Amino acid sequence: MKYDITIIGGGIVGLATGLHLIQQKPTLKIAILEKESKVALHQTGNNSGVIHSGLYYKPGSLKATNCIKGYHQLIKFCEEENIPFEITGKVVVATKQEQVPLLNNLLERGLQNGLVGSRKITLDELKEYEPYVQGVAALHIPQTGIVDYKRVAEAYAEKFEKLGGQIFFQTKVQGLKEINGETIVETSQHNYITKLVINCAGLYSDKIAKLSSKVDLKIIPFRGEYFKLKKEKEYLVKNLIYPVPDPNFPFLGVHFTRMMKGGIEAGPNAVLAFKREGYKRTDVNFAELAETLAWPGFQKVAAKYWKTGLGELYRSFSKAAFTKALQELIPDIQESDLVDGGAGVRAQACDRTGGLIDDFLILEEPYAINVCNAPSPAATSSLSIGETVAGLALNRFK
Ligand SMILES: Cc1cc2nc3c(=O)[nH]c(=O)nc-3n(C[C@H](O)[C@H](O)[C@H](O)COP(=O)(O)OP(=O)(O)OC[C@H]3O[C@@H](n4cnc5c(N)ncnc54)[C@H](O)[C@@H]3O)c2cc1C
Repeated sequence: MKYDITIIGGGIVGLATGLHLIQQKPTLKIAILEKESKVALHQTGNNSGVIHSGLYYKPGSLKATNCIKGYHQLIKFCEEENIPFEITGKVVVATKQEQVPLLNNLLERGLQNGLVGSRKITLDELKEYEPYVQGVAALHIPQTGIVDYKRVAEAYAEKFEKLGGQIFFQTKVQGLKEINGETIVETSQHNYITKLVINCAGLYSDKIAKLSSKVDLKIIPFRGEYFKLKKEKEYLVKNLIYPVPDPNFPFLGVHFTRMMKGGIEAGPNAVLAFKREGYKRTDVNFAELAETLAWPGFQKVAAKYWKTGLGELYRSFSKAAFTKALQELIPDIQESDLVDGGAGVRAQACDRTGGLIDDFLILEEPYAINVCNAPSPAATSSLSIGETVAGLALNRFK
């Protein structure tokens, strides 16, 4: 069980990193350790399936640069591997006059990020794109697309293994010990000896990071719940319909998404999850919840966003309130048109005093590289993040 590089986490980021490493240096012995019995069972397999264009992110940020680079890499990969995807385009719709300046800012940001063809559209054009949407102003973003990220992750895994990488399932990492320049990775199965650990553990990335560093971060889990449109109501949505995001809240707001595997999803909202891998409203892990509530950075976030947070919690328990939020975009939607659509949990890093960390965060330690914050659009950006992390790792094997 001796490996040059051991990656913790078989989500899309860990797998993309493994794939880049083995493609660039096939002589390295690389293992991916995953605590579940399959890849992509957490964030990667429970997301909106959107190939983001790069519209929202601060120009020059890691999110902006990796999203745009990753977008092209992902599409090329899907074409080469025959993975279905579609560039559907999307509309972003202001439903109130006071949102129009924010919509204009968004377009400005998108153009600064290099989006071509994104533009403000007339309300008649909006009706052509999405006949059932109401709004006072709208953008059309032609680059946005859809894909099934579980399928993408499975393809990364297959290719990684074909090139000689190894994935070990049901192998939960429990400890890291540095001895004479090597690390012993203690797991629920065996010990692995490795020269370098790469932490891509998503919702548990902070716990793994703490095993090899003094990094002072906490993952705050935010559940995103979805409804699905009943089959007979799918005609209400042609492609992707987004609201103008609330600038006081770091999520995109409930939207409509046509899914690559079929159907239309509405959501996700963003509610504090009482358990990191808690996909149901009733899932609670008291130790994890207590840790979240006691974290000073979280208390700062709660003080800042408590009103929005309570609204999200209310919408989580009240289907009528969720429907009302959706009716702002499509007034014809009724509560009876929606059926339960599952949920995903976002891993959002929060520092001790500053609050939620907006950008992707990758930290290097003597024997480890920690991917500490990889929320949306990390699925779109996966190949670019993987390339960056692989580059940092390979610098150590020159
Ligand atoms: C509701 C929702 C909607 C989203 N929508 C989009 C979207 O439309 N487009 C987009 O680009 N992004 C989207 N995202 C973000 C995207 O899904 C994530 O950024 C991405 O999947 C992160 O991948 P990851 O590999 O870091 O994490 P994960 O997929 O969570 O993988 C981490 C893996 O680590 C494993 N692990 C954890 N601890 C251990 C341990 N101790 N030992 C071994 N293994 C361990 C876990 O089991 C898991 O498989 C969304 C996310 C959510 C939750």
